[in-house]
Amino acid sequence: MTEPWKVAKFGGNCVSTGDMYERIASVVHEDLTRKFLVVSAISGVTDTLVTILARPQEEKEIDSFVADLRRKHMDLLPKSREGATGSGGAIDGLATKLERLLYGVAYTEEITPRTRDFVLSFGERLAAQVVAANLCLFGIDAVPHEADAIGLITDDTYGNATALLDETRARLAPFLRHEAQAGRVSVITGFFGLSREGKTATFGRGGSDYSAAVVAHALELPTIEIWKDVGGFMSADPKIVPEAFPLSALSYDEAAELSYFGAKALHPRSVQPAQACGASIVLKNITRPDETGTRIGPDTVDRSGDVKSISYVRDLATLKVFATGAGQKEGLLSQVATALTSAGTNVYSAATSQTCIALLVDADALSRAKKAVSRLPFGLVERIEVLPHVSLISFVGEGVGYTHGVAARVFRAVADRGINVQLISAGASMVAYTFTVDNQDLERAVQAVHREFFGHRYPGPQAPVGARSHG
Ligand code: ASP
Ligand code: MG
Repeated sequence: MTEPWKVAKFGGNCVSTGDMYERIASVVHEDLTRKFLVVSAISGVTDTLVTILARPQEEKEIDSFVADLRRKHMDLLPKSREGATGSGGAIDGLATKLERLLYGVAYTEEITPRTRDFVLSFGERLAAQVVAANLCLFGIDAVPHEADAIGLITDDTYGNATALLDETRARLAPFLRHEAQAGRVSVITGFFGLSREGKTATFGRGGSDYSAAVVAHALELPTIEIWKDVGGFMSADPKIVPEAFPLSALSYDEAAELSYFGAKALHPRSVQPAQACGASIVLKNITRPDETGTRIGPDTVDRSGDVKSISYVRDLATLKVFATGAGQKEGLLSQVATALTSAGTNVYSAATSQTCIALLVDADALSRAKKAVSRLPFGLVERIEVLPHVSLISFVGEGVGYTHGVAARVFRAVADRGINVQLISAGASMVAYTFTVDNQDLERAVQAVHREFFGHRYPGPQAPVGARSHG
């Protein structure tokens, strides 16, 4: 049995400026069970790595790009402290390696998914050095670790890897446990691990939350803290709904559905490893550490059937695939799904009828998706229609799928504002309903749903779990 240690993940905005390290240090000092810190890249760094890979680069550009990146991280190291010397050397080493990699890409004019993931991982590698060096300055015995070097094992799906939880537990846990028992705080890179074939594989954008959950799973820790510079989950996006209010608790499924359908508070995949080991995920705001934040755990299920929150994904498109006559249809859904997957298209939602399959895809993946479907064997598809400029709205709550009248209230509220609802999907999850509207109706539709359930005002602190909240 492991001690009740905690893993605390710090997002990009929490590691990007000098004053933030002081905040992290006080979080660690305040609770010495926080022995495992998972860090994201400094904000914007992964984006710049994506950009530099997006088009062929001249040597000059690579040189100045790497020099800038190196400087940015060097500037964040503590000044004139012994602790920083080792980190400075490590940052130099990383910069040199990255430069060589980028040269390789430039010369060969070729980038494999593997090389891409390796390049993208440098943001976290650099950040771990900077964070650990700064924590040492505050008297914390912090040591940077690269997740692929210490045994966080993944499958070989580069760009969207999944951690192999058993292998990871066997390899990662003994090492980290030993570090903690020796009194050290491990500063672990988020976002990637080591693939089966021994290369760096990333978990997809925003994947550091997932890394934290995987570390907790490996060590069977009861708590995963996700620290950001904003609060946790809210009843809706406050940019659209000014009266939206913070949520103190959500179930695993509610959190997963909300994140999948656009809420930015958490990476949707982080729920699975947490749930698998019964760990709670606690979302905290580093600028207001005393606020409780949002807790997601095994005991936060409120099945009252109330809608808890509304989320959305903007800029999607509906692809309608019409089948030719009967007899062909059986295979259609699976063939369309396979075609879209191999074209790398994410399908948010699908609805089928006797003659048509409607699929919701990212607007910028639309032409790719259309091409993939039109290449299906002759005779299967009769025609394809496209409905661009759609947004997906979802409303989420344990039990909404069983509660009479919830959907009716939502659609009446939306219809009362003259908004046309296009594609409705219910029942795929008993926790979430989704529907689509035209992009231009998104704001008004989200406001309508929020007002239907919560009125115009903040209803006060959320009722304790188990008790019914506002009706
Ligand atoms: N740095 C990575 C990204 O920007 C991972 C993360 O931030 O969680 O996607
Ligand atoms: Mg990031």
